[in-house]
Amino acid sequence: MTKSMSNEPPVRTRFAPSPTGHLHVGGARTAIFNWLFARHHGGTFIVRVEDTDQARSTRESERMVLDDLRWLGLHWDEGPDNGGPHGPYRQSERSSLYSSVVDQLLALGHAYPCFCSEDVLEAKRREAEADGRPPHYDLTCRGLTPAEIDARVRSGATSAIRFHVPKAGGSAVAGDVTIADLIRGEVTWKADSLGDFIVRRSDGMPTYNFCVVVDDHDMQISHVIRAEEHLTNTHRQVLLYRALGWETPKFAHVSLILGQDRSKLSKRHGATSVAAWAVDGYLADAMLNYLTLLGWSPADGIELFDRESAVRAFSLERVNSAPAVFDPQKLAWVNGQYIHKLTAAELWELTKPRFATAGWLREDSPEARAWFESAIALSQKGTSTLADFIPALAPMFEFAVDDVLADQEADSILREEGTESFVAQIVDELKANGTPRDGDEYKAFVERLKSLSGRKGKPLFMPIRVAMTGRAHGPELVALVPLLEAGSGLRGLAPIASPLSRAEALLDGLRARGGR
Ligand code: GLU
Repeated sequence: MTKSMSNEPPVRTRFAPSPTGHLHVGGARTAIFNWLFARHHGGTFIVRVEDTDQARSTRESERMVLDDLRWLGLHWDEGPDNGGPHGPYRQSERSSLYSSVVDQLLALGHAYPCFCSEDVLEAKRREAEADGRPPHYDLTCRGLTPAEIDARVRSGATSAIRFHVPKAGGSAVAGDVTIADLIRGEVTWKADSLGDFIVRRSDGMPTYNFCVVVDDHDMQISHVIRAEEHLTNTHRQVLLYRALGWETPKFAHVSLILGQDRSKLSKRHGATSVAAWAVDGYLADAMLNYLTLLGWSPADGIELFDRESAVRAFSLERVNSAPAVFDPQKLAWVNGQYIHKLTAAELWELTKPRFATAGWLREDSPEARAWFESAIALSQKGTSTLADFIPALAPMFEFAVDDVLADQEADSILREEGTESFVAQIVDELKANGTPRDGDEYKAFVERLKSLSGRKGKPLFMPIRVAMTGRAHGPELVALVPLLEAGSGLRGLAPIASPLSRAEALLDGLRARGGR
């Protein structure tokens, strides 16, 4: 990890969610980049809750967002729950700081009270639009004298506070702004493009652009890494920094995330909240890996990395300014790679609640655990999410002879000449010598059937598979048959039909069908 250069301020980044729902994919990616950047530089990662929109913000959402960040493994050094030297870390609890900075702006002559009512402002905005003028504030209140202001306040009028946007030449600070965005390069705004904007509404609520500046300054944020949609706010924010005589942080605006149709990622594209992906059986490490790749790529081009490697390799220089496309198939592939690397014991811990919900795990006994671990190991290769273990294991728990007979592939195997009597041979063999309990016993069993029936290859194995498992496909029989046998009657598990009972039921079904 590289320490920041000595003449640079220490690296401090923040993720500043507005708690109005779950953490979504875009927010998570922003949080990840902030976290990676801070960790790479041995800096500090902060979570600040931007809950000034009281109508939409909820504590419940804050809890969900923090839970989702925790699930992703993004530990924050300072935040609303663990505090820190620059707290509180919820904007709703920082009003006294905002008030004092508003007073500072007023005292410095960079802001003024505006008594215009919303109705009047709206009418003027419409008028300006109709005339093809920019809908900027017409400065009615900018020229009020202290005496006029006093008189209005005494008469009980309420006022918003507006920032005086300096226009080049006409004021102490010119209003043109150029930033060197660490992702997008140089970005410039002209003072003329901006009207005098509100920093505190007439109801006393400070505005987003104002709070962000006060907080980023107070929390000594060195790098503001955030979504591209906030780029236009940066003009206002830099003007506030200048007016207050504060050093501006470095900015890095991360590009949009698009759906595969290249429109902005939204609910239309499926699950967008991190929690929904977790429910679908995605692993936090895989999610972190995939989201890191949305707009960033390591120099070595290796796409699968653990978090330590990502921390080591991360730099803003390698963040792409072009939009990233969210590709669920790629995410599933990445997730599959992580699933395949886990041990059966690790997967058991992760899948256990799902098996309990499915009703298959009734008691978490050591026997049940051992059985599930074997079942997991047998199915692991074909799964790419934790949820995939449910359909993968379902054939072990769910057996109905009618379903077997109704299955097209199983049916075509069963309808081949002589299959019914071969199934009868299988049943007899199982009854005579018992069901194989391990790989060697299974191989001996197959050898016996081979010489008894004279069958080999597919005509030997396919009827064995259908008769003893109830499916035309599945994991290798040498492991599956002993597993089904071990599972039947095992404590802690939902009832599992043994290979013999499956074969017997199927034989009955075939005879009944044949006799119709
Ligand atoms: N609260 C803002 C949001 O959730 C972020 C503001 C910022 O990062 O400056 O979009």
